Amino acid sequence: MGLRSIRIGRLAGVPIGVQPLWLAIVALITWSLGAAYYPDQVPGIAPAAAYGLGLLSALLLFASILLHELGHAVVARRNGVEIEEIDLWLLGGVARMAGYPKTAGAELRFAIAGPAVTLVIAAAFGAVDLALPGSAPASLKAVVEYQAFVNLAILAFNLLPAFPLDGGRVARALIWARTGDISRATGIAATIGRGFGYGMIALGLLGAAGGAFGGIWFAVVGFFVIVAARAEEGGLRLRVALSGREAGRLMSFPAVTIPAGASVAQAVDEYFIRYRYSAFPVTEGTRPLGLVNLAAVERVAADRRARTPVGDIAIHHPSLLIDEHLDVADLLERPAFQEIGRAIVLTASGKVGIISITDVQQVMRALDLAGAA
Ligand SMILES: [Zn+2]
Repeated sequence: MGLRSIRIGRLAGVPIGVQPLWLAIVALITWSLGAAYYPDQVPGIAPAAAYGLGLLSALLLFASILLHELGHAVVARRNGVEIEEIDLWLLGGVARMAGYPKTAGAELRFAIAGPAVTLVIAAAFGAVDLALPGSAPASLKAVVEYQAFVNLAILAFNLLPAFPLDGGRVARALIWARTGDISRATGIAATIGRGFGYGMIALGLLGAAGGAFGGIWFAVVGFFVIVAARAEEGGLRLRVALSGREAGRLMSFPAVTIPAGASVAQAVDEYFIRYRYSAFPVTEGTRPLGLVNLAAVERVAADRRARTPVGDIAIHHPSLLIDEHLDVADLLERPAFQEIGRAIVLTASGKVGIISITDVQQVMRALDLAGAA
């Protein structure tokens, strides 16, 4: 969503990030529950207690959304798609996948996993609410009822068939299963998603004009749905154009490599200046260790460059060491590749090549030209 999220930790091995805006949402929920909901539900409650319960409710909501996204992540992983990060944003979360589900069935399972978790949470709070004796404190009842309600709202919202919301993904999986064509299914689902997006904006603005301030939120989400549907369509078009193209056919080979024992100063003089590449694989014997680029060199203080072995500053990232048969479309989706812009290609014979994001972008431009002609 443009804004960089803040890492807050890992759960089940998946990094969890929070958009800065989410903190504002937590404050907004705390404030609205503390100022209105709890005083209404619990007559005579002290303001501090009302705001305290408001904050508790916002954090429980946060946990519910996290569990929803973990549901997606666990199923994605079981279907062979890694989750790079779970990102909590405006109204929910996004489980950012490295890659796409490979079949309609996998997409369907992935899409319904989150709503299934949310349904269980809503049902659990609902059951607790029913089981609470009449003598239970009103504040406890209010906390439980709010969670049941808000999880039902998350469930309903996520099941809107507005791609890329979960309901839209379900729709795409069903169309995909029926037509066997993911591009067409994505096109149809994205069109429906855009329609919903415009509808949400119109309804939201009308509501806001009529005094329902929450309508603004609805309109913002509608806008998000439109933007995300477009991005998803574009990403897929690219993927279809690139798929079947292997890294081994786009790499520069053999790559000029720097031995891990060379000093950073040597690397600058004998490699960066001489060859004018912006990154090199670093090798230990014939085995590639990682990549060194100018940014990594710049991080070493000038007076230490003669003493620091280049192996010490190499970027070791497992997703940047790839097999020559890896699909370029898969490589392009790896965040590490998007960030560093280079990956080491290992051939079947154990030799080393290098592939850059510019190589891939040039092929994309050429494919575009070929498509236009
Ligand atoms: Zn979801």
